[in-house]
Amino acid sequence: MTNKLSNPTDLAREALKLLTARRIPPTPERYEEVYYEIAEGKTGQSGFVNALATELLAALKAFPKQSPDLHRQISQIEKAAISRDWAIIPPILLQAIEAQGGQAGLARAWSELIRDLLNQWDLRSPHFSATRKRESLAKVLLNFGNYPSLLNEKLDALIRSWADGGGGEGDIEVSPSDVPNADSGVVPQALASVVLPPAAGVAAEAALDWQRWRDMLVIALRDGLAGRLMGYPGLVEEVTSLALAAESVSSEPGLDFLAQRLKRFWLQLALQTEQDERIATALVNLLLLLSDNLVDLSGADEWVRGQVEVVHDLLAKPLSINRLYQAEAGFKEVFYKQNMLKHNLDEAQEALRNMISLFIDRLGGMADSTGGYHTKIEAYTSRIAAVQGIPELNVLLDELMQDTRVMQLDMARSRDEIIAARTEAAAADMRITELESQLREVSEKIREDQLTGALNRRGFNEAFMAEIARAERSGKPLCLSLLDIDNFKKLNDQRGHQAGDDALVHLVKVIKEVLRPTDIVARYGGEEFVVLLPELVLSEAVSVMRRVQRELTRCFFLNNNERVLITFSAGITRYEQGEHPEATVERADHAMYEAKKSGKNQVNVADRPKNE
Ligand code: GH3
Ligand code: MG
Ligand code: MG
Repeated sequence: MTNKLSNPTDLAREALKLLTARRIPPTPERYEEVYYEIAEGKTGQSGFVNALATELLAALKAFPKQSPDLHRQISQIEKAAISRDWAIIPPILLQAIEAQGGQAGLARAWSELIRDLLNQWDLRSPHFSATRKRESLAKVLLNFGNYPSLLNEKLDALIRSWADGGGGEGDIEVSPSDVPNADSGVVPQALASVVLPPAAGVAAEAALDWQRWRDMLVIALRDGLAGRLMGYPGLVEEVTSLALAAESVSSEPGLDFLAQRLKRFWLQLALQTEQDERIATALVNLLLLLSDNLVDLSGADEWVRGQVEVVHDLLAKPLSINRLYQAEAGFKEVFYKQNMLKHNLDEAQEALRNMISLFIDRLGGMADSTGGYHTKIEAYTSRIAAVQGIPELNVLLDELMQDTRVMQLDMARSRDEIIAARTEAAAADMRITELESQLREVSEKIREDQLTGALNRRGFNEAFMAEIARAERSGKPLCLSLLDIDNFKKLNDQRGHQAGDDALVHLVKVIKEVLRPTDIVARYGGEEFVVLLPELVLSEAVSVMRRVQRELTRCFFLNNNERVLITFSAGITRYEQGEHPEATVERADHAMYEAKKSGKNQVNVADRPKNE
């Protein structure tokens, strides 16, 4: 109706007619509404405007972000609608929508949604691998990218399903009807199962675990590996950079990339290790070859034989760091002594060389003077033949006599000098022989423990083999005792390492005093000693060891003028014919251990071998 009525009676009549036509109850409010509708010529639009205002307000009230501002704006719009002040509504409405950031009608605010998406993306879940997450997200984006509210809704559902850990509720079912442009053919049927339902509640735990694993990897790389690769700057650089990269990994693609780098690095490391092993093996072989031949080559230098044998023994068995240290300590001592002796030897040899050259000079000098006399005598001979008279001959003979005396003196002096030179050369030669024999002895010392002078492990092994051979030949007994000082650590701790060392020296001294010259004492380990007692039966061997115990209580170890009692626990056994030497030692060791267990400071006889 466009023609406006102005007469109030007409208006009232028309209003009532319209109410009847619309079947609206004629309440005063409705009547008023319809009356003004007709009066303003907007018949047919009023209901629409009312409905619109009602919907608008409902929509505003459904905005996800219900801030105080929004409440104020909604009530302003409500008031304006009631008072039909339509003109002020649009700016308020625009403000409200703007404040919502255009997110009206969305299931979730975008910022919230994206934050959740990132959080869930980073969390590792046993049910949703990063690849799966990437696929699901790509599908949602592909199908709903152009429909913000649908996209919002589907993303929300997707994220919830990730967070639920596959509880089932958050599954995203994408059916073709969901997608506005389903007929465009971009929706694959496979989308019906974008996300599988994983077990509930596992995701958070998995995330925690995954961070822990990552941190452990960083520590392993940085603290565990980098320090051990100091000899390889390239590898250190790479492992440090890997640790740095591992530290910042927070997503599956990042992890994949790191895994590939790690794989390459392990390969590099394996190659390097392999190369090192090859170098070590080649060096060992080379040394073995060298030591095999050195003794033969340097027949004269017998004093290196001891060291060469040690090297040879070391290399022939699997390398052990303890044996290497032992050999090194022995070598240092021997080298020091040998260096001194070698210096003396060089001096003696130099002296001998000087003597010999002096001797040759003298001989040469003699030959020169005899040569000179020869010429002179020839001259005298021709002069004598030409002599005219006695006076002339007398003069000539005088000259000759004079020359002969000088010649005699010269000869005597040369002879003395030659004799002296020969004596000195002989003395130098003797000194050289003596020094060489000392060098040989020092080299032999490689079998001894440098601290106590007892045999070392190597010396013991040799001695034990020799004693076994002797016992086997003669059929006589051979006993072995293994002893370990009691509470030695305490002595070290209370009195210092030097006191500990002195105690070891003291113990060996006392043992040697009790033993016969044919018995053997060897240092078997730190504070463990082994005593070989040839030709003694077990009961006699026990007596010897008890005597050592008694002697220690009589002959105290003095430290800072204090008497310190050293006690030991010992195991004793007999070498059984034909058995492996290690079996004997093991039996004694076991018996010693039993002595420790039953109170220490005891001498305990081992059980006989089981097969007897
Ligand atoms: P137990 O009575 O059970 O044998 O106790 P223990 O303290 O004697 O034995 P433990 O094996 O606990 O300690 C041995 C100590 O001997 C530890 C080590 O420091 C010390 N030690 C080993 N070799 C030497 C050395 O050459 N000199 C010194 N001073 N101490 C040594
Ligand atoms: Mg011990
Ligand atoms: Mg001990």
